[in-house]
Amino acid sequence: MKIGIYGGTFNPPHLGHMVSARYAMEALGLDRLFFVPAGIPPHKSLPKGSPATRQRLEMAELAVDALLLPGKVVTSRIETDREGASFTADTLRRLRERYPEDELWLLMGADMFLTLQNWREPEVICSLANLAAFARTQDNTGEMLETQGKYLDKTFGAVSRIIQLPQIVPVSSTQLRELLSGGEGRQYLAPAVYGYILRNGLYGTKADLKHLSDDDLRACALSMVYAKRHAHICGVEEEAVKLARRWGAEETHARRAGILHDCTKYLSLEEQLQICEKYDIVLDDMERESAKLLHSKTGAALARDIYGEEDAVYWAIYWHTTGRADMTLLEKIIYLADYIEPNRDFDGVEEMRRLAYEDIDAALERGFEMSVADLTARGVEIHPNTQGALDWMKAHRKGTA
Ligand code: ATP
Repeated sequence: MKIGIYGGTFNPPHLGHMVSARYAMEALGLDRLFFVPAGIPPHKSLPKGSPATRQRLEMAELAVDALLLPGKVVTSRIETDREGASFTADTLRRLRERYPEDELWLLMGADMFLTLQNWREPEVICSLANLAAFARTQDNTGEMLETQGKYLDKTFGAVSRIIQLPQIVPVSSTQLRELLSGGEGRQYLAPAVYGYILRNGLYGTKADLKHLSDDDLRACALSMVYAKRHAHICGVEEEAVKLARRWGAEETHARRAGILHDCTKYLSLEEQLQICEKYDIVLDDMERESAKLLHSKTGAALARDIYGEEDAVYWAIYWHTTGRADMTLLEKIIYLADYIEPNRDFDGVEEMRRLAYEDIDAALERGFEMSVADLTARGVEIHPNTQGALDWMKAHRKGTA
């Protein structure tokens, strides 16, 4: 197996790290790539006010997740779990023990490659791993890197490879920290990393979470879930806005409920229960045992408490999983948007989409019917609110027919 190791302070991790990692995977044919955030970096001291190690680690996890290569690119705690300065030679010794037969590649930008002889135990590093270097600016010419490669080979027997990135992201974490403190720089970050920074007020960002712009709210919501759910969340937002326009609901409410509807989706049952307790959310027995049923309620609670959303948004999120009898227009819109957003693909979805814009109640009734049929087929108990929603809608449509 070919294993890449990409160390750094990642304070914060930015698109330069992500683009180079993704490209190095391909160029070197790596089977796995470890992002290794340094615990205590030996080359540079962390500037004052830097996030806690745990927060750098969590940001690295979000950046790695955003690459959407699960199992192939992963974050390693090998340095953050270790006491003392994080020397690369020690990290490589540990990895070599763990992977005695595998080919190790140490990835680094030009700045690091050009000074490798000054690191602790360069001869150990070069004997344990091959080196892969990429330019970070237009000034890091291939020629300069080639010369350094030859020098490292002659001096330490290093095997190195220069990787020409097709796209250079001309930014460093230092520059980015400066930009962020002035309210700029988000274009250099994965949206989820940016959202994490806003939520935690890192790097001098002082976002008022209760009055975020739609873009900032979206970044925050994306930072709370795995990247595989991002397309769905953006799809629900888009569909909810379209439905709101069609049926005359408040567009902003639809957008913000769509953005936040799944924000607690990946919390454990225990975490969900804690939130329910904190916000006095009354649960029945079925809900107490199902994180799936709880995420709509906890998502609603955080939308209101942390992001200052209005009651209409609260209830639209609250009912988006089970539905209920006699739903408001916004509740119907979020329920349906979740069902038919552009990434959904199931038998009958096109018909549901058509119906949603032609007769919203008929679409809703169809949605409840399909949910009940699907849950029954899978042997899952139907929540009384879903059955109630279906019964109510049937009676209501009959009455108005
Ligand atoms: P700082 O501004 O603190 O020096 P940095 O942007 O260099 O931060 P690090 O976490 O120190 O970030 O970098 C980790 C690794 O990523 C290093 O090998 C570095 O050379 C490389 N790297 C950093 N920025 C880029 C970039 N824009 N493109 C490619 N590689 C980069």
